Amino acid sequence: MSNEHNALEVRGLSKTFNGGSQAKQVLKDVSLYVKTGEFVSLIGPSGSGKSTLFHLIGGLEKPTAGEIFIGGRRIEPLERGLIAYMPQQASLMPWLTVAGNIEMALEIAGIPREQARAATREWLDKVGLGAEADAYPHALSGGMQQRVSFLRALLSPQPLMCLDEPFGALDALTRLHMQRWLLSLWEADRRSVLFITHSIEEALLLSDRIIVLSHAPAGVIREINVPFARPREEELWTDQLFNELKQEIYSLLQPVGAGGAIGGPL
Ligand code: ADP
Ligand code: MG
Repeated sequence: MSNEHNALEVRGLSKTFNGGSQAKQVLKDVSLYVKTGEFVSLIGPSGSGKSTLFHLIGGLEKPTAGEIFIGGRRIEPLERGLIAYMPQQASLMPWLTVAGNIEMALEIAGIPREQARAATREWLDKVGLGAEADAYPHALSGGMQQRVSFLRALLSPQPLMCLDEPFGALDALTRLHMQRWLLSLWEADRRSVLFITHSIEEALLLSDRIIVLSHAPAGVIREINVPFARPREEELWTDQLFNELKQEIYSLLQPVGAGGAIGGPL
């Protein structure tokens, strides 16, 4: 699908770490796209190369082969600043306060200081972190740090948001709360999102489309259109089609060799 208006398009992307006998191929000929305003989830086994794909899109690593287009423009290897990015490990600056971490990211992205300050305070209140605005990151729990990192990506102005397991470190209830909150925000604003998760339910609840990756070296093994109308409610979880899709994705993610007879297929 070649369309210069896609928020993201990745063509034939491969990544091999280390040369010679130590070479490890992590991504193998990955092609995918995110249309403008589309919410796409990437799901794949742990260690398959999902975060590596984001590192390539975000310009933190160089592809071994392939091309990346953002907003229709082919980006240079290691070109940064083009996506609103939430890394898997919250990488907050330890010497800046919680509010300072968000403000700095917004200022780097070109938002005037006063506006950055006001938006930061307002949104910290909305995610229940208003009282932590002047604390330093080390004083926060892992889940709180993740919420700060999430806010930083949410408030960054780039049209494409890449979120790497944003709710992974949250307890089940906070996670549910954040999913619903993200969903309502997204439904009001329809930003383009590429979202890594290993939760099948989360992918089905949030996405327009789910891309399933294989074990490393990761390649696209299936694309699933998620047909549920929006706004989506929790009733989805008991829907028969929801459970069929869940089962289908679950079976795609089985470890190689699981379930089959010895020597049989898979
Ligand atoms: P996922 O996010 O799907 O769990 P990652 O992209 O983090 O997977 O990692 C995929 C594989 O690539 C892992 O085996 C990891 O050890 C390896 N890897 C990631 N970054 C590097 C690196 N800089 N050098 C060597 N190997 C790496
Ligand atoms: Mg990862």
